Amino acid sequence: MDQQINLRVPGPTPVPDRVLHAQCRQMINHRSPEFSALMQSITGKLKTLFQTQNDIIIYPSSGTGGLEASVVNTLSPGDRVLGLTIGYFGDRYMEIAKEFGIDLIRLEKPWGQVFEGDEVADALRKHGPVKAVIVTHNETSTGATNPIRDISRAVKEYNPESLLLVDSVSGLGSMPLPVDEWQIDIAVTGSQKALMIPPGLAILSVSPLAWQAHEQSKMPRHYWDFSSYRKYMDKHQTPYTPAVSLYYALDEATDMIMEETLEGVLARHRRVANLTRQYIREYESRGLSLFADPDHLSDSVTAVRVADGIDVKQLLKEMKAQGVILGSGQGKHTSEYFRIGHLGWVHEPDIVDVFEKLAIIDSLKSKV
Ligand SMILES: *Cc1c(COP(=O)(O)O)cnc(C)c1O
Repeated sequence: MDQQINLRVPGPTPVPDRVLHAQCRQMINHRSPEFSALMQSITGKLKTLFQTQNDIIIYPSSGTGGLEASVVNTLSPGDRVLGLTIGYFGDRYMEIAKEFGIDLIRLEKPWGQVFEGDEVADALRKHGPVKAVIVTHNETSTGATNPIRDISRAVKEYNPESLLLVDSVSGLGSMPLPVDEWQIDIAVTGSQKALMIPPGLAILSVSPLAWQAHEQSKMPRHYWDFSSYRKYMDKHQTPYTPAVSLYYALDEATDMIMEETLEGVLARHRRVANLTRQYIREYESRGLSLFADPDHLSDSVTAVRVADGIDVKQLLKEMKAQGVILGSGQGKHTSEYFRIGHLGWVHEPDIVDVFEKLAIIDSLKSKV
């Protein structure tokens, strides 16, 4: 790994050396027993990570493709769907649903806030039964994490037949998301976040209820069609050419996670997130504060509000000059905050480094 650069954006995240080397192997035939063994190894470990017995589907795609796949495989144009957005990525999920002709009941919260379970229960009572609820687990744009367990309870208590589709691209593998226990019909994640491999894979878990919905779904689709994937599932192959190098990387990265254990990985993310928050409290008098609701802070990314008079662009530029790459703000709040990614291959010293170098904030202020 390049030790000079401390890449602290919430994806793509740094790739550990072991994984970097693993992906440099020669290609293999994707219609061979060697590939099937690789795929079987990966799928087994992903099921442990998703805490599920559900089927796993891996696409060569960025995370957004996985979101689209969840919509086009289970829904039909005109279906009533409750969409909950708490930021930039929630908005994207809503847009996908709308573009495919979903009758969307779109609820939103101000950036930094989340939906509580009883608010979702109230919304369902008010609007009546829906085919599905779509929601973001960890909102990467704001550093707020929806309480998916409570939301799931509200959804399934109101109507066990409603699907729960969850964007956990920046959550899974860094925060708890026990898919079976929380009755998540489709959980979507991406390779470049907590999984510590380069961008290029979208990974979904598909529940029996989601498969049932798939049988009835009339949405146009081809590349994303779950049915094509199902045909190859028993052989542990994919319908189209898989991203073989990324499979090498994913096999190695999931080995690393299994060695540390899922529990260990989640505990490390919690520790690193707590350290980040502690630093921000220490930096309060110097102009930094938490952007998101303190009761629903993300363990994978922290959004940091800056006091008036501090130029965020300049701050990011001066941090980059010191080798620390931070995430910018997003959407209409871009100039109010920045983000520190702490998911995947991250440890306490990475955060200590960020805040040592953030000492430049004092000089930024005096310039204004
Ligand atoms: C990163 C991310 C995505 C997917 O983004 P891609 O650029 O398509 O990989 C989707 N949702 C959330 C919450 C994310 O953090």
